[in-house]
Amino acid sequence: MNTLIDVSASGAVRLGPSVVCDGFLRDACVRVQTHVHTDHMDSFDSSKGFQEVLMSEATHRLLVAERNADLPYRSNVRAVPHGVPQPADGCSVTMLPTGHMLGSVQVAVDAPQLPRLGYSGDFSWPLEVVNEVDALVLDATYGSPHDVREFTQEECEMRFLELVGGLLRSGPVHVMAHRGTLQRAIQLLNGNVDVPIVASRRTSREIQVYRQCGYAIGGVVEEESGEGRFVLRGNRFVRLYGTGDRLPVDLNRGSSLKLSAFFSRGDDPVTEYSDRSFGVALSNHADFNGTLEFVKASRARYVVTDNTRGGKAVELAMALWQILAVHAVPSSNFDGLHWGQ
Ligand SMILES: [Zn+2]
Ligand SMILES: [Zn+2]
Repeated sequence: MNTLIDVSASGAVRLGPSVVCDGFLRDACVRVQTHVHTDHMDSFDSSKGFQEVLMSEATHRLLVAERNADLPYRSNVRAVPHGVPQPADGCSVTMLPTGHMLGSVQVAVDAPQLPRLGYSGDFSWPLEVVNEVDALVLDATYGSPHDVREFTQEECEMRFLELVGGLLRSGPVHVMAHRGTLQRAIQLLNGNVDVPIVASRRTSREIQVYRQCGYAIGGVVEEESGEGRFVLRGNRFVRLYGTGDRLPVDLNRGSSLKLSAFFSRGDDPVTEYSDRSFGVALSNHADFNGTLEFVKASRARYVVTDNTRGGKAVELAMALWQILAVHAVPSSNFDGLHWGQ
């Protein structure tokens, strides 16, 4: 790894000598947890044991709901407010929201005698505020110039609702999505479909956290409850599957919808896999143009593109140089491609 900023093969983002984001490095005393998606949670338990861990209030609540462990009682794990510099191991850490999912943040680190260092985390675009930094580690999930969406997220939402409405006529609809996107789907479905929405206890617990954080999300029926089992025997329901939920093995009835940023045509948010299975590009990730806008707003003069998550780091570094004349390199690890969340 480079010494100042880089990303390790396991996804740990180094910001100077003291701070690491979304991973564990033995010599860094401080970990910042940008959000709870699995590809950002590597070695969290090691960090909990050895490091000072900073995160947003909402991320803290989500982790407590998910892990139900000793987190609330640990003095080395701190929930911190947005935009307020936090002293940590001789430097100062500032977090701002990124609109990617509940609790997600971007990070800036000020340390004596060092340029201001930043990590974008996963982000959507547009954003109201971006940390201005000198050097930036940038998420490269949609870092290819081909990753341009010609449709808006509002169009995606409409197509999603139309599709669910149509498919419900011939049976139940199974919806799969990552955390954050799934909650967005529930908000859309509430009041727009007149069938019960069924989810696991785990997803239902997460929805409680969203509500505590001010989101108006209606109820779901827990699949393990008596009502849930009754509804699932029938033919009219939407069933949700989030991270960690067991996916349907055998869909002998109804149809399935996968919500992810993937799209096969830039002008169409819906991908038809068969007449019973579809993908909808409902996403809280900026596309390529949004990624360029983020870099412009950050005013970074030097950018390291994250080569661990998504695999577009080389293309993105080239594009940043060609389009924005910003000095950019992919992070030094070249192994391991993961499906970005
Ligand atoms: Zn994410
Ligand atoms: Zn990610």
